Amino acid sequence: MRLILLGPPGAGKGTQAQGLADHFDIVHISTGDMFRGAIKNQTPLGLKAKAFLDEGELVPDDVTIGIVKERLEKNDCDRGFLLDGFPRTLIQAETLTEMLANLGKPLDGAININVDRIKLMARLTGRRICRHCGAAYHIVFNPPPKEGECGKCGGPLYQRDDDNEATCENRLNVYESQTAPLIEYYAGQEILHNIQGDQEIDKVFADILAAVTPQ
Ligand code: ADP
Ligand code: AMP
Repeated sequence: MRLILLGPPGAGKGTQAQGLADHFDIVHISTGDMFRGAIKNQTPLGLKAKAFLDEGELVPDDVTIGIVKERLEKNDCDRGFLLDGFPRTLIQAETLTEMLANLGKPLDGAININVDRIKLMARLTGRRICRHCGAAYHIVFNPPPKEGECGKCGGPLYQRDDDNEATCENRLNVYESQTAPLIEYYAGQEILHNIQGDQEIDKVFADILAAVTPQ
């Protein structure tokens, strides 16, 4: 199974991703996580990416496409993969199509999770992430069993630097101008699945499974 998760920041891509990866036994590849890891480790990639993440702008296509290409060539992608947060521009999408055609591994589905903008702002500014396992919580909509502590691994929770109001506004604007056009692109390829994201987390998951599982 080869899938991409589309949808604006805060739609619930990361929340759904691990469950889907486990269900289909495929690797979860999040470009945002890759950039945050590189920034934390102060690698050359991290140094290049940091200013873009801080501003809520997209990391340039050549850099982003480079890391995804390298990742998709690894053997663990043979069974399938779930791309979360990539592609985010038309150039990335077109390059991905070409890359996967060359590898003989075309996409099976593009999952577009829809949530309205007001809700997205509330989700993003209240998000908390586990420092150890990366699980996402929300202080109101999806609180951890114990405040400040991950319910899955016990790790400490933190707020992402880019989950402040000003950067979130910009990320949503960037999404609308640069990423939303991909919905049309994948509709044209006849692999788009629109999912209502403003529902309970388990219901969103069930809807995604129903949409992508062959009948
Ligand atoms: P994305 O990866 O698309 O940016 P996340 O999965 O990190 O989004 O979710 C953003 C925030 O919204 C998190 O705080 C998460 O706990 C919360 N969230 C995710 N899905 C739902 C849902 N179905 N209902 C309510 N809150 C949700
Ligand atoms: P995310 O974790 O998906 O919310 O992404 C966080 C940030 O990482 C974004 O605001 C961008 O700065 C950067 N980023 C993640 N994925 C991409 C991508 N496909 N193209 C460009 N920048 C990206």
